[in-house]
Amino acid sequence: MLVLLRKPNTRMNNTKYVFVTGGVTSSLGKGIIAASLAKLLQERGYSVTIQKLDPYINIDPGTLNPYEHGECYVTDDGAETDLDLGHYERFLNIPTSQANNVTTGRIYQSVINKERKGEFLGKTVQVIPHITDEIKHRIKILGNTGKYDIVITEIGGTVGDIESLPYIEAVRQLQWELGEDNAIVIHLTLVPYLAAAGELKTKPTQHSVKMLMQSGIGPNILVCRSEHYISDDIKRKLALFCNVKKEDVVQSLDAETIYDVPNLMFNEGLDRVVLEKLNLNTDKHPELVAWNQFVKKYKNPKQTIEIGLIGKYVELHDSYKSITEAFIHAGSTHEAKVNVRWIHSEELTTKNITSKLGNLHGILVAPGFGERGVEGKITAVKYARENNIPFLGICLGMQMAVIEFARNVLHLQDANSTEMDEGTSHPVINLMEEQKNVTEKGGTMRLGAWDCELTKDSNAFKAYENTEISERHRHRYEFNSNYKEQLENSGMSATGINPKTGLVEIVEIPSHPWFVGVQYHPEYKSTVLNPHPLFLSFIEAAIKQSVN
Ligand code: GLN
Repeated sequence: MLVLLRKPNTRMNNTKYVFVTGGVTSSLGKGIIAASLAKLLQERGYSVTIQKLDPYINIDPGTLNPYEHGECYVTDDGAETDLDLGHYERFLNIPTSQANNVTTGRIYQSVINKERKGEFLGKTVQVIPHITDEIKHRIKILGNTGKYDIVITEIGGTVGDIESLPYIEAVRQLQWELGEDNAIVIHLTLVPYLAAAGELKTKPTQHSVKMLMQSGIGPNILVCRSEHYISDDIKRKLALFCNVKKEDVVQSLDAETIYDVPNLMFNEGLDRVVLEKLNLNTDKHPELVAWNQFVKKYKNPKQTIEIGLIGKYVELHDSYKSITEAFIHAGSTHEAKVNVRWIHSEELTTKNITSKLGNLHGILVAPGFGERGVEGKITAVKYARENNIPFLGICLGMQMAVIEFARNVLHLQDANSTEMDEGTSHPVINLMEEQKNVTEKGGTMRLGAWDCELTKDSNAFKAYENTEISERHRHRYEFNSNYKEQLENSGMSATGINPKTGLVEIVEIPSHPWFVGVQYHPEYKSTVLNPHPLFLSFIEAAIKQSVN
């Protein structure tokens, strides 16, 4: 086992670093623990950001199927990122950026590019120091902005994974360079309950910590996920075997909702222990006033509404994480429980549509790519339109709304998107001009925040109460403006336009109670403290529908 021999006092600036590693199993909720800790520190007056390091070799998750790691989240600056960044934004209410998510692919790509430029001329390029230097550089980029008192870096994967090793080594080096009062490691583990023995078991945690120690890192704090209360005796045992103090063992019991976790962590003293270890002031207590109002309303709804979420990845709910969280934020404001009915678009037909979508108070047609399931989505749009059910179409969902209207109202029988049918005689959704010469798939969509101007009196305008908005995008295809006049003459209006390019960002059917399709992704910008206006308005319309 390696031991820290000295703690150098040299530091680049005042930023403190907290690393969150995971042990024993995946899916313990490192992202939620990191976001909850950050929230508490933010409420104590510190400026905090959170970063995720992902050990896979893709440059970003943009080319991944949602079945792999769930939704691909998009930042204002157009980064396609891990869904944990969505949690960071929803908890902290501040935007993240490309720098907040780094993958092994990106690390290697920049090192290899530097090698080609001759930056390491004469040297053998190696994992240590070149890859680890690049990782450390990426971690320090956020601290070097001077904007943050504390940077929390979540290391993806589980300690012991081969692919995590360079990250763990980089953390060891950084802690050595910065000193333990400037950089600490929180290790999140599982303390399982063996029903047959009637006992909580500490051995997996002991092993996991040993594995970390073999890499030269002694965790400063243990956060232990458990289904059962962890007694002082068990904490003492964990402390003894894992080189921490009993006070540094924090239990994390299963929570009713992720939004309870900041309070649970506060009750366990996680934020206080972190600040003490970093030699930071603990005088100001986290109040969480607005947060707790949100949680209270969320837990005490006055009514329940049923929203159908039509998508083709519904088997994995994480594929639509930001959408379901946006429902929670908007539902809480309206004191309504939003029950999401998960509906697979591939299973929808004109025959079963009434049995599948009947009794819904709102229908959301989700984003997506490719042909699979699109006809079911179009059938769902038709049902919402004809039965006056509040409808929100997001990205591909908006495109399907345009296709449905063109087919069934304008009677353009084979109207389609050229994504699904290149030879359609009515390409109402078309590949964007700027996309026509794009051949590579990674990071080449129209990504990130773009401005949009709203038509007064539209449902969108009523929701935003503003004519100028900015929303995040992720698409290659667009509304074909050659059909705009025809669609508008028949009752579908373009109510949101990009002021620079004229691209149609929003369509509505004014004669319908609430029918809105948006080319962008409003769900990415909904947070606990700022529920998204469009989701608020959609839920309000669904509540009206439920009392009709
Ligand atoms: N596949 C469509 C496009 O590329 C929609 C993308 C999406 O829903 N995010 O334009």
